[in-house]
Amino acid sequence: MRLSVLLPLPLGPLSYLAPEGCARAPAPGLRVAVPFRKGVRVGVVVGVEDAAEGDFALRHAIGYLDEEPFLDEAGIAFLGRAAAHYFTPAGQLLADLVPFLEPPLRHEVRLVDGAARPDLTGLTLWRDAAELDPALLDELREGGVLEERVREQKPTRKTLVPLREPTEKLTPKQQAALETLRALGEAESQTALAAAAGVGPGVVRALVEKGYAGWREVELELAPPAPAGPALEPLPVPEPPPRINGGRWAERLQLAAGLASEGETLVLFPERYVLERAYDRWPPPALPFHGGQSPELRRALWREKPPVVLGSYQALLMPRRWRRIVVMDEGSDSYKLASGSRAHAVHLAELRAELLGAELYYLSLTPAVEVVEKPGLLVRPPRTRVLPIDLRRERGWPLSGRAVELLAQVPEKGRQALVLVARRGYSGRLFCKSCDWQPICPNCDLPLRFHKPGRRGRLVCHQCGHSEPAPEVCPACGGEVFGYSGPGVQWVAEEIQRRLPELPVYQYSAERKDDLTPLQRGEPGAVVGTTALLRTPAPPELALILLPYAEGFLPASDFRAPERYHRLLWQLADLHPTRSPLIALQTFEPDHPAVEALIEGDVTGVPETELVLRRMLGYPPAVRMVVLEFSHRQEATARAAAMDAAEFLQKRLGDYLETAPFAPLLGPAPAPVPRIRGRYVFHLILRAPEPDLLRDWLSDLPPPKGARLRLDPDPVGFVGLLED
Ligand SMILES: [Zn+2]
Ligand SMILES: [Zn+2]
Repeated sequence: MRLSVLLPLPLGPLSYLAPEGCARAPAPGLRVAVPFRKGVRVGVVVGVEDAAEGDFALRHAIGYLDEEPFLDEAGIAFLGRAAAHYFTPAGQLLADLVPFLEPPLRHEVRLVDGAARPDLTGLTLWRDAAELDPALLDELREGGVLEERVREQKPTRKTLVPLREPTEKLTPKQQAALETLRALGEAESQTALAAAAGVGPGVVRALVEKGYAGWREVELELAPPAPAGPALEPLPVPEPPPRINGGRWAERLQLAAGLASEGETLVLFPERYVLERAYDRWPPPALPFHGGQSPELRRALWREKPPVVLGSYQALLMPRRWRRIVVMDEGSDSYKLASGSRAHAVHLAELRAELLGAELYYLSLTPAVEVVEKPGLLVRPPRTRVLPIDLRRERGWPLSGRAVELLAQVPEKGRQALVLVARRGYSGRLFCKSCDWQPICPNCDLPLRFHKPGRRGRLVCHQCGHSEPAPEVCPACGGEVFGYSGPGVQWVAEEIQRRLPELPVYQYSAERKDDLTPLQRGEPGAVVGTTALLRTPAPPELALILLPYAEGFLPASDFRAPERYHRLLWQLADLHPTRSPLIALQTFEPDHPAVEALIEGDVTGVPETELVLRRMLGYPPAVRMVVLEFSHRQEATARAAAMDAAEFLQKRLGDYLETAPFAPLLGPAPAPVPRIRGRYVFHLILRAPEPDLLRDWLSDLPPPKGARLRLDPDPVGFVGLLED
């Protein structure tokens, strides 16, 4: 038999002959160990055929690892469809979705009976393959004289057990320790047994030395922790529509639990923090499944069959026939995979549901533009109290007088404040006040960010980590006065401390995480941080949320920015489980639609308007978009590759260029971040209302000369615009 085997690598299926001398019939979905390059890899059988003539040249697979298939047929079909959609080999998607596929292996080899290799007499018995030279193994394999067996090495732990009856008279203490061990069955260490038996550690050591007790390896039982909080009451909706919006977080969880109450349901979460928070309140039985769990645990949970799985995208390929898939917070950017296939987990969930015939639901506070037109149900959104502070009129930067007044009330009332800033460090930008010079990262062509430890401070690139001392004088004009703009966490925290020395101020960002325990205990204070703050529990006495520069969250160059800004503002309104803290926004645009929607309690208006705009301007979901990224250390090489591709596509698109509703080919142009980690990047954007057209164009595209080409299908944003 010939097997098609998909390895978790950026490749399509590879052909192997079925394992030699293996009694079991091959079946799609089984994990199989195969020789690959100089080693052994584990893949999944995705096809089985009768061997054809000429197949004798193929290598044999080594052996299967599973009794039951690891992937089901629907999962295999899904991989193929998703790979085609993302212009990527199916193996890449397998690697992205099941990064824990390959377990540690116990791989043993010996020579087949009668093999005449006098130089290898030691190999007539089974030996661990790891002790042997891979090149030799390959040679023996080629020669057809190697017998191999392989199995998954399950995680084990060592445990102390009683071994045999004593053949001599033991001391009373030794006797007591042995009896305790017999009664317990096992002990995790000698010290633990000594403590349990009330004897000294030397007594137990003597038992082990005499061979009456000893170590045994037992399989480790893996299980996720039990939920920590009281379970929520599910809130079933009769004949639910595909989209449900509004409500507070706990209410949406109740609705999700209601949707899941018929069983066979996958509830998909964008981030581990949100998933774990949900699991702690979820009515059992349910299973969490996400990338924060160890690979061993994920492999152990893979075949569990609880009625509900709360999963990240890594649960999408579980061999289950889901009846329902519930997507939580479908608009979250975290659903986009940052590397590999760069697939979007919401789209993958849609495809998986389609192929399974499962019902699909979107459950979020504010709907994504992509789904806002679906029939929906609106639950009353959290009450909001909003105070826009118009920076065109108010004085004071980065804190207006109004903002300082509000912050001053916080400790007076024993309350707490959260100050949200788009940038970490001291400021977004440092510039020379006389000539406007600003420091640029030598690797990335991005402005360096000013950080202020010490007297002079340092300039740091938040993209590549390059760091240098801030200059004393302007290298361009010799000027000595610098200005700072776009306040970062450090600057705002310092300013609050300067204006309100009595107020305890904490900082929280990817680079500095203060201990927030005093706030969690309810002590008054303010925490200044990036959006990383939204992944911590809200302080219990939260009364004020201040954005010193709300536009920092609204980068102009991204068509998704208004939707994202709207979602963020609503996320703030839903931050505290019961309270409605005052949301104070320092802004140059106090009448931005997202701000007005927050004041009016409207969660769907902005996405609806955005959908109309995107249809007019030819942005997703009206079109499908793919960014082609050409990069090289030499700017000319990267640009030339992008130009060549553009020229080719011009010809290839031909008449379509004239008839297309929107210009289908944009660029080439330097990427929004034109140089990243020393590589120049040029972008070419393809878009069309018909996704199949994109596939046709791209399948014809010749590989670039010299430069590297990476595709970003369905881009969601540009790296480096927002920071945690
Ligand atoms: Zn200057
Ligand atoms: Zn850099």
